[in-house]
Amino acid sequence: MSALPPGSILGIVGGGQLGRMSAIAAARLGYRAHILTQEADGPAAQVAHAVTLGRYDDHDALRRFADAVDVITFEFENISADGLDLLSSIRPVHPAGRILRISQDRIAEKTFMAENDIPVAPWRAVHDRADLGTAAEELGYPFILKTTRLGYDGKGQTRIHDASELDAAFDSLRPHPLVAEGMVHFACEVSVMVARNERGEITTFDVTENRHRNGILDLSLAPARISPALAAQAVDLARRIAGALGLIGLLGVEMFVDRDGSLRVNEIAPRPHNSGHWTMNACPVDQFEMHVRAVTNQPLPPAIRHSDAVMKNLIGPDDMALWPQIMAAPRLLAHHYGKAEARPGRKMGHVNVLFPHGSLPGEFGVEAALGPLATAADNAA
Ligand code: AMP
Repeated sequence: MSALPPGSILGIVGGGQLGRMSAIAAARLGYRAHILTQEADGPAAQVAHAVTLGRYDDHDALRRFADAVDVITFEFENISADGLDLLSSIRPVHPAGRILRISQDRIAEKTFMAENDIPVAPWRAVHDRADLGTAAEELGYPFILKTTRLGYDGKGQTRIHDASELDAAFDSLRPHPLVAEGMVHFACEVSVMVARNERGEITTFDVTENRHRNGILDLSLAPARISPALAAQAVDLARRIAGALGLIGLLGVEMFVDRDGSLRVNEIAPRPHNSGHWTMNACPVDQFEMHVRAVTNQPLPPAIRHSDAVMKNLIGPDDMALWPQIMAAPRLLAHHYGKAEARPGRKMGHVNVLFPHGSLPGEFGVEAALGPLATAADNAA
């Protein structure tokens, strides 16, 4: 396939901030973004060329949306298999439905990793209560029990410390099946964004180090403060996963750096990823443009990083109360998602701070650079 010509319409399933930033990147390259969303005034709809309002399981809406666009991508993965099949029967869908099906289901994801010799935490599928007992014996305590589907930002999972907690944990997580995972004693969490187009060109951004607070990503640091050899391994894993999936599009690969110095893949997300937002200011071509280039089969330039960077999420009303101070802080490069209501735990925007290449500071330097957001960074550390 040749590249999709400018003026073409990129269909994006999902109306949140990832769709918004993808739509802006699409517009820069001369494409028009058409969003399928239920939110007429959501983050993506506000900046889009056109919107189809509808639910992701409304076949009539899916059909109208697909008919109106040239190629379809996602900012949101939880669309049904039926819906994916319907979209794919009308227009090219990138990444392909089979990739979404793998990423939507932790058992499918781990099975795929095992088939491709990609290291993950030890795990057991838990279909019933008896499986859970066996998993506990084999994995040892503590371990983590997760729903196989629809888990995000730390939701849909619980840590089990001893046998007395098994029943309650099993009952609290529905729907079944579940997956039990051995604890990884990690030194840090990292991620790699990888893009691949239909020509088979692959490009990867530098490894990012991620810190969570209350189960939600709080800070990303680029480059991750790990050895060059380990960073090369992380990039290699991401490229292998993209190749084995036959990816067309962008994929985030989250990994744990075990204290023993090895990497284990936690999960994959076939879309732009929160931990890649630093690329918007630290790279000539950011993750959103790379995503658009990949799904429109444009050439993929090397993912060059001209600066070191720290990204901090703006979450809920407390962070948004600081917006005037953020706007007044010259080093904070601010991104607002246009959401009307700042509910607790809701991602409202993010800031990036740049440092000259090779001069990412330590904890105190990062905190100082975050200016009005510094105290929050301090709490997270
Ligand atoms: P997840 O929803 O799988 O991304 O998990 C959310 C967070 O829980 C991760 O970012 C980790 O901090 C923690 N976590 C998940 N799985 C494990 C594990 N097997 N070992 C240790 N920590 C984990």
